[in-house]
Amino acid sequence: MSDPVVWNPQPRRPAWGVRTPRRKTLATRAPILRAPPPARVTIPLVSGAGISAQPVVVAGQSVRCGEPVATPTAAGYPCIHASIAGRVTDIGLYPVAGGSGPVPCIVIERSDGETVWDGYPAWPDSSLLPAAEIRRQISAAGIVGLGGALFPTAAKLDSAGQTPLLLLNGAECEAYISCDDMLLRERAERVVAGGRILSAAVGAELCVIAIKTDMPEARRALLDAIDAAADPRMVISTVTAKYPAGGERQLIELVFGREVPAGGRPADIGIICQNVGTAAAVADFFLDGRPLISRVITVTGSSIARPCNIEARIGTSVADLVQLAGGYTGTPERLIMGGPMMGIALADDELPISAATNCVIAATVEELGEASAELPCIRCGLCVEACPAALMPQELLTAVRDENTARLESLGISECIECGACDYSCPSHIPLTAQFRTGKRLLANAQLSRREASIARTRFEARNRRLADENRAQPENPVDADALQTLLARTRRRDPEQSD
Ligand code: SF4
Ligand code: SF4
Repeated sequence: MSDPVVWNPQPRRPAWGVRTPRRKTLATRAPILRAPPPARVTIPLVSGAGISAQPVVVAGQSVRCGEPVATPTAAGYPCIHASIAGRVTDIGLYPVAGGSGPVPCIVIERSDGETVWDGYPAWPDSSLLPAAEIRRQISAAGIVGLGGALFPTAAKLDSAGQTPLLLLNGAECEAYISCDDMLLRERAERVVAGGRILSAAVGAELCVIAIKTDMPEARRALLDAIDAAADPRMVISTVTAKYPAGGERQLIELVFGREVPAGGRPADIGIICQNVGTAAAVADFFLDGRPLISRVITVTGSSIARPCNIEARIGTSVADLVQLAGGYTGTPERLIMGGPMMGIALADDELPISAATNCVIAATVEELGEASAELPCIRCGLCVEACPAALMPQELLTAVRDENTARLESLGISECIECGACDYSCPSHIPLTAQFRTGKRLLANAQLSRREASIARTRFEARNRRLADENRAQPENPVDADALQTLLARTRRRDPEQSD
């Protein structure tokens, strides 16, 4: 007889994907370290889609930990809260880890004590709240998707249709990253509690928590937590440990066997996907009245003395996190934010972390390996086999190099999730994903030019139609006749002067 809390006991075996070396155990030997408040935090005011929150504090003002410091400028977008108690020392533009340029931030310097703002009541039984009120509270709590996209959780929940399926993503598939694994091992009951609250927020009758086959400790902890909750909506699904199984679309395919249409969202097929960290943050707010002021981050790599997972306040600098992990063992060859496949290199360790930062890797030369010279494409097709989006990377590569935007569009470059599986499998060491980022920019520019040309043409045609209509309605235009007489009169008045 199958276990009622195990959804889909036979994991699907996808043809796509790659198996990357596992480097997660580096940071899973020690329990999650709860970081003390740092001396200074730089809190970004930007969430998904680049929308900034509006500061409600001024420089010089004292704030308590958890106090709202910025309010949303769009419906469904989150409030931002002080992650430490202290004094606001600046509100301005600062570079942040993963940002393409400086973003608005609030800088707070720590005061001596940790006074906590207690303006949010705890709701131990949130099932008493209407669904719309739960979503409003989630927005007030400042909760965004902790999987990396920072998309406002309340806005995503608002987009759900009737009785959707809820999918909690715990299948972190990048080598090195273990923050979700550790969260599930140590706080599975919080993830399950958050899943139940999120289910109530959208009226879901099924909440599937997805993890990978190589997370046995997390699986045991989750099964215990689901047993204790005794909620028939909560089930667990174990998916392949192939990369990128944790991508939203890929996970939906693996768990439900369904495909999100090209250009569409999971909500279009009745599925709402949230990260397990997001679910735990929801539980922290409803059970303890604690808004989103921290997250679990993996600090790892062979240049770190004691790789571990740290629960850190948002706005903490990377340097402070490295210090908590025992410091550097030498000068790291590269600092990476995120995983080795999709992460980005950091310019320095002074940058602050945001709610999207799930991992910092300080890598040695040996870890990075020698850069291999790029060779010509041999049309082996390995990149096609690896691609989880069913694209043809070698054809996309030719189209990018030819700057053929029509071909890029027809090949579906916008469906590329930039996972890097094609780069990883390419025997010619071609940096395909970097080329596809360029290709997306080329296509976006071409589409913008097309749109602008179309708007200009529509405006021109509308003007012509309007003029034609006016001419038809008023064959004798008295205004124009008057204007002509005025012009003639002016000409006559000027004539004598011109003859002088
Ligand atoms: S894997 Fe590399 S060499 Fe093979 S077809 Fe793709 S781009 Fe060409
Ligand atoms: S980076 Fe894009 S093209 Fe390459 S495997 Fe991933 S989705 Fe496919």
